[in-house]
This record gives sequence, structure tokens and C-alpha cells, in this order.
Amino acid sequence: MPRTPLMAGNWKMNLNHVEAVGFVQKLAWTLEDKKHDPARCEVVVLPPFTDLRSVQTLIDGDRLKLVYGAQDVSANDAGAYTGEISAGMLAKLGCRYVTVGHSERRFYHHEDDALVNLKARKALATGIAPIVCVGEGRDVRQSGEHVAYVVAQVHAAFADVTAEQASTVVVAYEPVWAIGTGEVATPENAQEVCAAIRGVVAELYSDSVADAVRVLYGGSVKADNVAGIMSQPDVDGALVGGASLKVDEFAAVARFY
Ligand code: PEP
Repeated sequence: MPRTPLMAGNWKMNLNHVEAVGFVQKLAWTLEDKKHDPARCEVVVLPPFTDLRSVQTLIDGDRLKLVYGAQDVSANDAGAYTGEISAGMLAKLGCRYVTVGHSERRFYHHEDDALVNLKARKALATGIAPIVCVGEGRDVRQSGEHVAYVVAQVHAAFADVTAEQASTVVVAYEPVWAIGTGEVATPENAQEVCAAIRGVVAELYSDSVADAVRVLYGGSVKADNVAGIMSQPDVDGALVGGASLKVDEFAAVARFY
């Protein structure tokens, strides 16, 4: 089975729920104009938590050809965890995806590989596909240890994940030095690490699980560089930050396929 490409827009802490409704409507119309076919490429928006109910009502109510998810999830199910949102709550809102381990969470909130794994498993237990973000910083890249570094992150992320669950996981390779910097990895750089990620999944599970897992590249993806990145055999889509906040730009990225 060929993997369905996936283009996900990580809005980060941008667009309130009123702005989100206008944005999603315009994105859906733009994609419709461009004859977007969701069977050829899944287009996902990842708004802030506060937007999710409005986005759900709009996308589900109007049967828009878009999918939505969240940017983070708690490692706990319920209880005295002020400010946290559980996987069950996200599932109830119809979220299909959630990013875990984004480098901004790892950096600002000191999230480590063990916590990222717990969050991924909480998502999987409710039927939400985690988009597990991995990637090296500039120092690691310069030391030449980037593949080993990312491979270790991927090993940790899949700990105690069953083979059935594993095939639904999405891994996003996001070199930290490329996020929000305008400095995109070369297609060859992206392919080298994405192939290594798929190799880890094959080693942990099987070739068929590795064939099913989608591996995305993220880091300064835009309409004018998406083709090169996506030309690589182990890159199945992109996690897009800044460019996902501009309707025409994101639609152009999403319509690459
Ligand atoms: C991201 O935040 O996941 C990201 C890839 O951001 P940008 O596209 O802005 O580099």
C-alpha cells in the first residue's frame, strides 16, 4: 500500500478561534479551487487548543476536505494536572493527530524522550496518531552525529508501542537549526535522516510496519522549496510552521502532490 502523503500546518501560538474559522474556510475554498483530492494528500491543521472546538464544528459540519489535530497532549489521563489537556479530551473533539516532542516543547518545557514516549502512547491509546518530532541541534549536526542522535530519539519514542500502533505513528524529522530560520535542509540531508528513521522502525518491528509509517520533514518548508524535499523516497510530507499561517502559501505546499 503506498503511503498517503501528509502536509501538516503547525500554527503554534497563532490565530484565535475567530481568526481560525476565517482561515480554515479560506484554506478549504482555496484547496477546492485547486481541485484538492484528500485521497492523494492529507492536509492537516494543528491549531491552538482554544480553537479546536470551532475548527471541529466548521470542518465536520461543512464536510471540508481537511483534517485537524492538536499541538500537544498530557502524559496523564485525568486529575490534578492544572493547565493540561488529555488525549481523551482531544479524541472527544475529533482530533486525528497530535504533535509530541516538538523542539519548542523540548526546549522551553524541558520535555525529554521518556515524556515524549508517554505522550505518544497516551495519544495512541485513544486512537489519535502522534506526530513525533525529532531532530538535532546545530551543534550535533556540526559534530556529524546527527543520524545517531535522531535514531536514539526514535528508539525512545517507540518504546512499548505495539506493532499495530506503530504503523499509525507519524515521525517528523525537524532539524532544530532549520525551524523558523529560513535555512532548509537539502533534499539529500532530509533523505539521509528520514531513511534512517524508517530503518529504525524496520529494525524494531518489520518492513511492512516501516513501509506504513509516514516520515515527514519539517524546517522552513515553503512553496518554493517543497518540491526538492518531497522528491526524496523516504519523505512522505511536511510539517510546516511559518508558511502554514499564509493560506495561499500553505495551499501551494499542500497541493504539491
Ligand atoms: C515547525 O515549527 O514545526 C516548523 C517546521 O516551523 P517552520 O516551518 O516555520 O520552520
